Parts: sequence; structure tokens; C-alpha cells
Amino acid sequence: MDLGIRGKTALVCGASRGLGYGCAEALAAEGVQLVMLARSAESLEAAAERIRGASGVSVRAVACDVTTAQGRAAALAACAAPDILVTNAAGPPPGDFRQFSHEDWQQAVENNMLAPIALIRAVIDGMIARGFGRIVNITSSAVKAPIGNLSLSNGARAGLTGAVSALARQVAANNVTINSLLPGLFETDRMKALVQTRATAAGVSADEIRQRQLQTIPAGRYGNSREFGAACAYLCSEQASYITAQNWLLDGGAYGGVL
Ligand code: NAD
Repeated sequence: MDLGIRGKTALVCGASRGLGYGCAEALAAEGVQLVMLARSAESLEAAAERIRGASGVSVRAVACDVTTAQGRAAALAACAAPDILVTNAAGPPPGDFRQFSHEDWQQAVENNMLAPIALIRAVIDGMIARGFGRIVNITSSAVKAPIGNLSLSNGARAGLTGAVSALARQVAANNVTINSLLPGLFETDRMKALVQTRATAAGVSADEIRQRQLQTIPAGRYGNSREFGAACAYLCSEQASYITAQNWLLDGGAYGGVL
């Protein structure tokens, strides 16, 4: 299926590896020009080069921290009027709710709620004026089913989800959509680090934690960045213009509810 977005421009946050990279790769395969963002210049440029080589699209790499005003200014200076925005940044650290400080909460809200909101605020009027916009927020399955040791993530991501829900309806008639992708367990560096944290806390091997996790996933495996990227590209397509304000869970069937 031709997704009808060839020649559009996407600003993709957290794009040097993992789920953000998967989104960038899938959009490039559809002929979308990219501005890729991540904190480390070296790994970002290597990722951008891989995508250039595979797709032939124009890819600009901007090393910046999207959770800072300065980083977002650098991103927007490189791409002030994206047709597509994929918001993403590292998730908050795991831990016990009672041990998180006020500052820990402020940091989580800043990184995983206010940073994407700031980017959306900066680009949405242009999308409305041009009559096309696709915003995809990478959040977490924690939005549907909060995760025990990730209360900072549970809270900040729920905040973002609520904040953009009404906005999505407000801009829908302008062919601007806002949706979120909620990853369950995807095999990325972030996930491997969380597995190690759990293993250390439980005094067992990382492989033991992996086996336990896999038993909770009906698909019997972790997700991969490619299939995540494909879902993102579809949400950004011309064909998906009637899908907005949705929270798509990609979790191999792990969530047990019907809604
Ligand atoms: P990852 O650590 O593998 O990759 C994160 C990417 O974002 C990297 O390119 C990194 O350089 C970049 N990045 C991080 N913070 C940034 C910042 N402040 N500014 C610019 N770039 C930044 O992580 P991932 O597994 O791809 O996860 C992406 C998001 O999805 C995270 O918020 C994570 O918490 C969430 N998530 C992941 C899973 C999973 O199973 N992988 C599950 C639920 C939620």
C-alpha cells in the first residue's frame, strides 16, 4: 500500500535507536524526508547514514536533548514546519513510588509530558494552516495498565495522553491527527536495561526475567522496532486521516482487557 506521504517532512525525536529509529526507518521507506533527533551526535549520524543509504531520502541529523528548551529550539530551527511529528524521549527511571522525590516527579513530567506538549504547540498551527498534520506520541502500555515499578512513567504519560485528547478533536477537521503508540515489551536498549534492573533487584539472572516476561505475552516474543515503525508510518498516512485521539497498544496481546 502506498501511504501517500512521499515528499512530506517528519521531525522524529529519539531516533538514533529503538522505537524512534523504527519510526524514522519506516517513514523514510515511504519517501518521507527526515529530521532525526537524539542526544548523541555520533550514533545519530550513523543511524541517519543507514537510513539515507537504504531509502535515498534526505535525512538531517540534529543532536539535541528534546527535553530542554534549547534542544527543542535547535530541532525547530532545523525543521520549523514538519508535516509529521513523532515525539519520543527516554522513559523515567524505575523505582519505588515512596522513594521518588518531588524533583523526580518534576523531571518525569518535564521529559515525558511537557517536552512533547511544547513540540506540539510549536508545530500544530502550521499543520492546521497547511491542512495536513500527523502527530504520533510514543508513550507506553502503562497508559492502559500502570506498571508496578514505573510510577513516574505511569503518571507523566497519562498526563500527556489526557492533555492531547481534547486537542486532537479540536484539530481533526483540519486533517491534523494526534495519536499515541503504546509499546508493550519491545526488544530495545531501554528494555534490556529495565530487564537488568529487575534481575538485580530480584537476585536472579536477566535471562530468568526474560523468560518470566515472555510467559506474559501471548505472542510468545518481544516486539521489534520494525513492526513498531510500520504502525507509526500507517498512522502518518493519508489513509489514516480518520483515525485520531487513539491510543494504540502494541503488546503481542499482553493486555487482558477488551477495550
Ligand atoms: P531506547 O533507549 O532504546 O532509545 C531511545 C532513543 O531516544 C535513543 O535514540 C536516544 O538517544 C533518544 N533519546 C532519549 N532521550 C532523549 C532526549 N531527551 N532527547 C533526544 N533524544 C533522546 O528506548 P526505546 O525502547 O526505543 O523507548 C522509547 C520510548 O518508549 C521511551 O520513552 C520508553 O520508555 C518507551 N517505552 C519503551 C518500551 C519498550 O519495550 N522498549 C515499552 C514501553 C515504553
